[in-house]
Amino acid sequence: MLSNDLTSLKGVGPALAKKLEKLGLHIVEDLLFLLPLRYEDRTQLVRIGALEAGQRCLVSGEILLAEVAYRGRRNLLVRISDGSGQLTLRFFHFSRQQQAQFQAGMHVTCFGEVRRGKGAFEMIHPEYRLLREGQDSATNDALTPIYPATEGVQQGRLRYLTDQALHAMQKEPPAELLPEAVTQKLGMPSLADAIRYLHRPPPDADVETLQNGTHACQQRLAFEELLAHYLSLRSLRALAETEDAIALDDGGEQVRGFIDGLPFRLTGAQQRVVDEILADLARAHPMMRLVQGDVGSGKTVVAAIACLKAIACGVQVAIMAPTEILAEQHWRNFCAWFQPLGIEPAWLSGSQKAAARRQALEAIADGGAQLVVGTHALFQEGVAFERLALVVIDEQHRFGVHQRMALRDKGVGAQGHPHQLVMTATPIPRTLAMAAYADLDTSVIDELPPGRQPVTTIAIPSTRRGEIVERVRAAVAEGQQAYWVCPLIGESDVLDYEAAEKSYAMLTEALPELRVGLIHGRMRQVEKDKGMQAFKEGLIQVLVATTVIEVGVDVPNASLMIVENAERMGLSQLHQLRGRVGRGAAQSHCVLLYKGPLGRIAKERLAVLRNTNDGFVVAQRDLELRGPGELLGTRQTGLPDYRVANLVRDAELMPQVQVTAAEIGRSPARAAAIVRRWLGDAGRYGKV
Ligand code: ADP
Ligand code: MG
Repeated sequence: MLSNDLTSLKGVGPALAKKLEKLGLHIVEDLLFLLPLRYEDRTQLVRIGALEAGQRCLVSGEILLAEVAYRGRRNLLVRISDGSGQLTLRFFHFSRQQQAQFQAGMHVTCFGEVRRGKGAFEMIHPEYRLLREGQDSATNDALTPIYPATEGVQQGRLRYLTDQALHAMQKEPPAELLPEAVTQKLGMPSLADAIRYLHRPPPDADVETLQNGTHACQQRLAFEELLAHYLSLRSLRALAETEDAIALDDGGEQVRGFIDGLPFRLTGAQQRVVDEILADLARAHPMMRLVQGDVGSGKTVVAAIACLKAIACGVQVAIMAPTEILAEQHWRNFCAWFQPLGIEPAWLSGSQKAAARRQALEAIADGGAQLVVGTHALFQEGVAFERLALVVIDEQHRFGVHQRMALRDKGVGAQGHPHQLVMTATPIPRTLAMAAYADLDTSVIDELPPGRQPVTTIAIPSTRRGEIVERVRAAVAEGQQAYWVCPLIGESDVLDYEAAEKSYAMLTEALPELRVGLIHGRMRQVEKDKGMQAFKEGLIQVLVATTVIEVGVDVPNASLMIVENAERMGLSQLHQLRGRVGRGAAQSHCVLLYKGPLGRIAKERLAVLRNTNDGFVVAQRDLELRGPGELLGTRQTGLPDYRVANLVRDAELMPQVQVTAAEIGRSPARAAAIVRRWLGDAGRYGKV
């Protein structure tokens, strides 16, 4: 029964089946795993006098008046009272008939979200029922499950269908796919019990644990779902092990020479990560390695060593950065490092002139360019490599699993897949990394080059901007340089750039003796590069910029970072910006200007930055305050939505998920069944 088509259920015809298919529902069992998103409590009436804004609840009262109001939009206003207080019901869409129903003196029960209105609390378009004389306002016995919304499939319908599936489950429970040893060890309920409980919580269910997703039944399912995603990513990883790549095992001499010739010694952490990478490259299977390292930990030189190793083996290398400014900086660095060795880097970007582009494309295609630096432009159609064997992606947190997969295909050919090295300065907390990057091996550069002084951070209201302007003057007088960043303040980059222009005008007026520059997203690429270069060379002392300089930019002489509107920005982004200073010998400062008054979260965020310079701590707090989507970069993460699990809330399950996955890995059929149950036939990742 559970494996039957949905059309075997009462009330499901071909049309509905099609809609359900869009939800990923194909067989009866799938309905069991369509779990309520939340629950509504209609088990008791809440007294109007005790209502709180934001609450969704059931209220009953006597109608005091009903009238059509014309202030603003025409609406029907019904005021009710239960003796403890008054509540306004407001309808913007209503029929004449509806209007006539509401008679003063009648009783009504309604369910909806409580909002603060003028004077009294309000409910906008509540569900309601008028009570006849002597009729009780009926409450439910149990919590009402609310299913994920689907176009054209009502909640009532979903409840009816899940009722049938739950009934079928009594005779034929879904297969228990977790090993018994695991469920026992974790003290988890059986799958069937958990499912029944979550679809139809009993009257005495603990509402609060259910609402915040920590109920043992939810944890049981969350565990299996996390396991499914993890197994799916690991199978991608296993797939790579069956694929060929060019083993890059020559060139040891050149690499040693390069490292010895650097103006500094590699840190212990850099050396360890280099060793891990070189060991991967020497194998005949594609490397898939993520290097995490806090801002300023020296990832670029690690990448350069990997590149040199590959070039010494006679293959091509591509380096991709998320912004043109960053790609440009890499290009300069790599030219300086590699040209003396007789290696010619090529440059490819979206804003390049046609002739230069054609020339670059030719060199890439005939193998003349051993190293190619660029932006996304590198991986567009029409870019053909002669012998691409290593791909380096910098600041990877902006790209997700799908992009990673697409990149790999550029190197597909007789020689197999390219090795992949991805680098990120957004340290992902360990448990989250386990879930999000399970298809990658991870290296961490957990040490900063010696002699760095921690950046001190202060947060002050923007009304004290004048004092900060004076600090800029003083810093420059001591031969240092400063960034003045105006982050995105609206949806459009126009507002963004206007804000930067305004600050630029203010600073040039207040500091006439200083050379102030401006960089923003609407400038032409050459102008941006020119500005950045002038700042690097010290020709500009104060650089006003939008967040285009957020990642990667490296100017060791800059020691002062001022960020306007800091209260609107995410923690990780602020940490990135702060990482632009503290790269030289001078004590560096970061000033976060904010517009008060601050909300609770904004206050906490700024406090986190004042209290720590550790990117991992910042990331953990960012995760707690904003959720994983924001941290990993919204939408682009390629992280599919979870149905029950929440990566932040359930992070502590991950270590056990990992252990269980290793056990289950020995029975591929069971692993496949778990992935299919939660991710569908294609296993979503497998398809890309
Ligand atoms: P990130 O990890 O943020 O990309 P970079 O690669 O830009 O950091 O390096 C930051 C700065 O530190 C650069 O100026 C780089 O030359 C320097 N650097 C890197 N490694 C070392 C080291 N081992 N000792 C001293 N300075 C180093
Ligand atoms: Mg970098």
